Amino acid sequence: MLQAVNQTGELVPIWKMNRDEIKQKRKEKFFCPACNEPLIIRAGMKNTPHFAHHSKSNCSLSGEGSYHENGKKDIYLWLHAQGYPVKLEHYFPGIKQRADIFLEMEKKKIAVEYQCASISIQEICRRTAGYRSIGVIPIWILGANKLKRKGAHSLSIPCNDQAFLHQFRQSLPLTLFYYCSDTKHLIIYQDMIFLSKTNTFGSMHVSKLASLSWPDLFQPRYRDKDLFHKYWQQQKHQWRNRPVPSYQREEMNWRQWLYLHQLNVQTLPSFIYLPITTQYQMKSPPWIWQSRLYIDLFLKKDHFTIDLAKQLLRGHYHSSDYFPLIQPRNHPICEYLKLLVRIGILKKLSETKYQVNRTTV
Ligand SMILES: [Zn+2]
Repeated sequence: MLQAVNQTGELVPIWKMNRDEIKQKRKEKFFCPACNEPLIIRAGMKNTPHFAHHSKSNCSLSGEGSYHENGKKDIYLWLHAQGYPVKLEHYFPGIKQRADIFLEMEKKKIAVEYQCASISIQEICRRTAGYRSIGVIPIWILGANKLKRKGAHSLSIPCNDQAFLHQFRQSLPLTLFYYCSDTKHLIIYQDMIFLSKTNTFGSMHVSKLASLSWPDLFQPRYRDKDLFHKYWQQQKHQWRNRPVPSYQREEMNWRQWLYLHQLNVQTLPSFIYLPITTQYQMKSPPWIWQSRLYIDLFLKKDHFTIDLAKQLLRGHYHSSDYFPLIQPRNHPICEYLKLLVRIGILKKLSETKYQVNRTTV
């Protein structure tokens, strides 16, 4: 951490001090503002001077490396330079949480968390709920050490990091933030579509933090439709033609299930594996749940209700608290059925009822 409490209870911002001042400070004792354990000063040639817990500490604030400390300082200074009232490592005693950065604007209170270490989804939910309970909006910026780039517009987002997807309003695109404290780049990744459990295509905006302003983070940017279409076609082609390694149990079981219905990946109709924006809410890849609707519903029934379709896929959705930073959301089944109506596979009979178009299915 960048500041700690001294013996007289004052908060000492060690990151602002020069080498001589730090040398003086080494004679004093410092304590963690959260757990009160004694801390050690870390001040090397390259890194931002900071306090650290002893290695055996169980404190939630221990284990933050210099990559994290540097980034936290960068973001704080960046906001400070824009004239915002901003606090570093602000502690909220009521919820026993400490925000890396706390920002108060006209009517909004915002906690910025720069998250470089892996934490559980339960922990993300717990901290987000804590902030919300005191009227603070959390914004999470991931360490770019977590970024797994697959192409110019494509990232692989591991399941745990998907809980950091933000959507501020339903009309705005999904957004993920990354910051690299080595290169000083902020990466804003938006409007991504999941084409498998982790593979995504979106709009990637990379720029120096210093060239951006705070409102720039919330500008909607959308994926390029033509490039996306090409990428999806390519992924679909690979999926149809690649052999499946035997360790991919779910995929093997699914192919076996197709085989039992006298089908295979090549003979499935083209409306299986359609990209939809709400795919992130599904546990199964698009081809698995979409083919399930096709085989167990469209081929068996001429009419069906949306509830029946939703029920058929229970067990395929992530639980609703999996995405704490997205509040109102569309349902993936509704989105898929709507798309099938548009391309003439289904007919909508009423708000809740659909008919299968037997000339196309
Ligand atoms: Zn502590």
